[in-house]
Amino acid sequence: MQHSIVPPSSAAQWVYCAAAIQAQAAIPEIETDDNKVGLALHEVASGYFLHGLVAQVGDCILGVTLDQEMLDRVQKYIDIVSKIYFESQLSGIEQRVNIATIHPECFGTPDAWVFDGHTCTLTVPDYKDGFIKVDAIENWQVICYIAGIVEVHLPHVDKQKLKIKVIIVQPQDYQGSKTKEWNITYLEIEHLITRLRIAAHAALEPNPIATAGKHCTYCRAKLNCTSFSLTCHSFAVAALQNPEAPENDISIELRFLQDAYKMIGLRLTVLEAEALQKIKSGEIVQYYKAGFGQGKLIWTDTSNLDNLAKMLGITVRKPEAPLLTATQVKAELKKKKLPEDTLSSITEYRQGKIKLLPAESKYAEEIFKEK
Ligand code: SF4
Repeated sequence: MQHSIVPPSSAAQWVYCAAAIQAQAAIPEIETDDNKVGLALHEVASGYFLHGLVAQVGDCILGVTLDQEMLDRVQKYIDIVSKIYFESQLSGIEQRVNIATIHPECFGTPDAWVFDGHTCTLTVPDYKDGFIKVDAIENWQVICYIAGIVEVHLPHVDKQKLKIKVIIVQPQDYQGSKTKEWNITYLEIEHLITRLRIAAHAALEPNPIATAGKHCTYCRAKLNCTSFSLTCHSFAVAALQNPEAPENDISIELRFLQDAYKMIGLRLTVLEAEALQKIKSGEIVQYYKAGFGQGKLIWTDTSNLDNLAKMLGITVRKPEAPLLTATQVKAELKKKKLPEDTLSSITEYRQGKIKLLPAESKYAEEIFKEK
């Protein structure tokens, strides 16, 4: 699939940092298992809307074998979009849209969009399968899509009257709402489209300036970005000094330390990933080692599970679906304040992902030696 060199998916980076696109150009994206699952679930949704296909547990889509939890997640999105999509005369599902109004090289593929002529409302739902909270308000990726959809598909609609509804469906957002909405008029976001246009052109100029901030979170160039490293370190230094604040007003210090905490955390993440990479490739990284984390909880023996469920008064099967996952049943035990170790003899944790661990004994030895 051809990718835009000014992609809407990274607009939240390049709108704040002109260097983000060029700095990452030579660094390939790493496709994680979570990314693959996200792509497969988008495919499930588009298969349903475009071809009436209903995915089942065990189906293999884009190399991912679907389980009930995955299908439950994407079903939330399908339910929301179904309410508006099938009634509409003007809509798109996974349809590429040119966003020349932002930059001639800018294009992208919105998950879905629906225009209701009666209320003059453009609705743009977007499915996010990840855990990290994605906001609907000022969602730069979706604003890019809106700019393109309006220019390409709604050129005759009166922009004075046009209303916009952004819906982010994110079933795994455990911090906030799983469905977030942003209702606004087109005129109210026009200045944001202008900002994107200016940023996109600046991003493709020679020698763009790097500006670090929270938007660096997903930038692949973090490891060698001087602006990012200097900003994180200046936050760390400043956090150690007591910022002056009016007496009895903790809000300024709190806000500052939270920002510093995020930036230092970002730098730590980069360094940890680099250290792990070095250990994996056989290098020694002082004070650190690699080890496996805890993976998913799975059933090892379900032969007596229905009897156990009856005895405890819990649900282990849905009427229309096979067995619930061990994690779901464990959560139910917790909810009912029943001992969670009831399942310990019939479940086990899969081996998790490899991660960086402190090599404690060596570290302690070193400290002891210094003293
Ligand atoms: S790490 Fe941050 S400052 Fe550096 S290029 Fe990426 S987005 Fe820009």
